[in-house]
Amino acid sequence: MLMDKEAHAAELERTFIAIKPDGVQRGLIAGIISRFERKGYKLVAIKLIVPSKEFAQKHYHDLKERPFFNGLCDFLSSGPVLAMVWEGEGVIKYGRKLIGATDPQKSEPGTIRGDLAVVVGRNIIHGSDGPETAKDEIALWFQPSELVSYTSNAEKWIYGVN
Ligand code: UDP
Ligand code: MG
Repeated sequence: MLMDKEAHAAELERTFIAIKPDGVQRGLIAGIISRFERKGYKLVAIKLIVPSKEFAQKHYHDLKERPFFNGLCDFLSSGPVLAMVWEGEGVIKYGRKLIGATDPQKSEPGTIRGDLAVVVGRNIIHGSDGPETAKDEIALWFQPSELVSYTSNAEKWIYGVN
């Protein structure tokens, strides 16, 4: 059902998406961005950075008890990561759907991990798993001034609002 402008604005949410060092090194940046862009989501922040190991540990703090935590943080801090914030209705949940299951062996064909990755330790992309995580991860990776609020001319065609 179509919504008016205010209702649409209230539904907009933001999620943190990162292309990990394997995705960057494999030349998958443009293809991945294209998946989000063509869907109709709006890019509101982007930067290429090499996170420190301490930073990677903060990003993955929920997993600190897991056996793969140390290797995961070493890997995330091993090279450039493309950090992004994407905005749209339902982008947190649907972004995870586009990305696919954590283990690429279980990701559906057609998803980013399903199409482009083979093993869980090199699954090329990160996406926030819920509203709280999205808020925390955006705040960890970006200064508020790096988030660009704007209306895209395509929005009225994507959402059917005037
Ligand atoms: N990971 C891993 N081995 C595992 C599970 C996870 O190396 O058995 C890595 C994998 O790169 C994954 C990341 O840890 O993307 C974070 O795990 P999480 O369960 O949060 O998966 P995600 O949210 O990325 O799908
Ligand atoms: Mg996760």
